[in-house]
Amino acid sequence: MNPPNQTEEDALRTIKELNTLSADIETINNEISLAENLLQKINDTEKVNVEDLQIFGLTQQSPTTLKLRLRGILSTKRSKLSELKKNYNNDLQLLQDLKKCPACQGKGTITKVSYTRDERIITPITKTEQCSNCTGTGEASLSSHVKTLINSFTRANLT
Ligand SMILES: [Zn+2]
Repeated sequence: MNPPNQTEEDALRTIKELNTLSADIETINNEISLAENLLQKINDTEKVNVEDLQIFGLTQQSPTTLKLRLRGILSTKRSKLSELKKNYNNDLQLLQDLKKCPACQGKGTITKVSYTRDERIITPITKTEQCSNCTGTGEASLSSHVKTLINSFTRANLT
């Protein structure tokens, strides 16, 4: 069993990772919208800004070439986004697990089985006790600061 400060450290490290992943997801979402927007403009034979193309390392080329390049870029960015979201949700699940008391896995109780022998008959006796590690709360010993941080994250939508 980990001492409480170890759980706290693990949680904080995971929260840091989640923040980085959130920022990366936001950036890539913006890039995808921008690329979709450019593609739409080219499809509608509108003029596109050179600066916008430069963001994706593109220069003014024929509309067909630009469309192909942008579709390729979009496909790469979308798979990257889905990978980031999966990592994000995995980290979030890890945090949910860290919130649980490691001794009772969040149940708050411990089930113990003992055996009594009575004239050659062995009878198992199941006894459920309050978990002594968390005193029945089922929660890991995390500071309220860390708990608030954990609760501030929501699952990424994997669509
Ligand atoms: Zn417990």
